[in-house]
Amino acid sequence: YLSIEGVFKTFTRGNLSSQVLSDVNLGVERGEYISIIGHSGCGKSTVLNIVAGLIDPTEGCVILDGKEVRGPGPERSLVFQNHSLLPWLTVWENVEIAVNKVFGRSMSRAEREDWIRHNLKMVHMEHAMYKRPGEISGGMKQRVGIARALAMQPKVLLLDEPFGALDALTRAHLQDEVMRIQNDLQNTVIMITHDVDEAVLLSDRIVMMTNGPSATIGEVLKIDLPRPRERIELADDPRY
Ligand code: ATP
Ligand code: MG
Repeated sequence: YLSIEGVFKTFTRGNLSSQVLSDVNLGVERGEYISIIGHSGCGKSTVLNIVAGLIDPTEGCVILDGKEVRGPGPERSLVFQNHSLLPWLTVWENVEIAVNKVFGRSMSRAEREDWIRHNLKMVHMEHAMYKRPGEISGGMKQRVGIARALAMQPKVLLLDEPFGALDALTRAHLQDEVMRIQNDLQNTVIMITHDVDEAVLLSDRIVMMTNGPSATIGEVLKIDLPRPRERIELADDPRY
């Protein structure tokens, strides 16, 4: 469904150049949730940014649903670890911008409003729709980032350490939420994480990137087991 084929990346500045990726290949099936783990600096974010179209590969390509993709597009939504919301807009407006971009022509205004509300509800953020990012917690910001990405109905959802900056309790709570949403929607997801437990909990398959100047991706685990953890019951606490 999605494939990363023979991707190389060399960053060049002036006469300095460093090869970061060397022949990275990865195939992802539709509806599959893949986690990428690997040492800091091995090139994980670079791979995700190439899939998102924010960085051009030096060589190689990304194929999605039979077509080569180049440049950014809403069918590949990326959620960053931090800074993904526009601080001068409300929660609602942050999602609205994305929805208007994707569905501005195909949905009526009323339909778009329903869709925004639906996505904010899905991450339990409907109570804070009119707040700005500066007025909500880190966990809440991540939820809005996820709602915004889901609202674009991407073919593939890209998560770059989505819960990395959060405290353990908030992280556990959001992981549960993502699991629940994933059970419903069966999105195709590529997630980067440093947390192996998180990778095991959420994904169908974990791939490991090797370290160093010629990163490659190799499959290490395939997990078909039911997810083990008990739900953490914090359900309606809006702080998480
Ligand atoms: P982390 O786990 O710490 O987030 P990562 O695996 O995501 O690390 P990348 O951010 O992809 O790693 O970076 C891989 C390598 O590429 C690093 O050595 C980094 O310094 C280098 N790099 C990343 N972006 C650029 C850039 N724009 N210009 C030059 N070098 C870069
Ligand atoms: Mg990174």
